[in-house]
Amino acid sequence: MFHNNLHALSLQEKLENELGKKLKLKINDNRSTMLSVKWEADYTKVSLHKMFLKAPQNIMQALACYLKGEHKVLAPSIKNYIETQVSRLDYSHELDLSKLETKGKFYDIQKIYTNLNQEYFDEPLNLHITWFGDGQRKKCNRITFGLFHDPLRLIKINRLLDHREFPEFLVSYVIYHEMVHYVCPAFVDKKGQKHIHSKEFKEVEKRHKDFYRAQQWIRDHKNDIFNATF
Ligand SMILES: [Zn+2]
Repeated sequence: MFHNNLHALSLQEKLENELGKKLKLKINDNRSTMLSVKWEADYTKVSLHKMFLKAPQNIMQALACYLKGEHKVLAPSIKNYIETQVSRLDYSHELDLSKLETKGKFYDIQKIYTNLNQEYFDEPLNLHITWFGDGQRKKCNRITFGLFHDPLRLIKINRLLDHREFPEFLVSYVIYHEMVHYVCPAFVDKKGQKHIHSKEFKEVEKRHKDFYRAQQWIRDHKNDIFNATF
């Protein structure tokens, strides 16, 4: 049940006043829709994540302009607001912890994660970690070693890395990289450009003691990895 009904009502009123048009407003509490708009002839249908209930005035004004159709694209300020709020969302309670797998044939990623947490972070991060993928090697031209899912606070590591050819320092670096995503979240600049690996991110990333070694290892083994000739 949604607890901010009064807030939602006054938000609806404010926006309708600005728009001069009926608004069908739905405030949602899910991790997939932050903002969706459908412009119909006599009303505008909007689904907003509850993060907008506490949005500052300038964001709501920019949103009203967008709903009115004055701005064809979403203002950078709104994009950045969403980006920043998303990085703070916590839907980790929706995770089925029994489905997370951390012990591989060669590497226990929970153990590596815990060590990294102790070594590099003053305040231990409270994230989850799991392997993903079937670990099958095939030819490809792009491989995702790791992912960080913000709202779930979940790090996913490609099971391909669970192999003796991949050194432990590389696995450790990949996990660390994903942890840094939590510490240095993406942001949108004034031009509307999204920075996933910001300057700050890159600085923190280099603190990993094997950062350069891992980069070099990836360069040296690129062909083996992409051609699955390991
Ligand atoms: Zn990254």
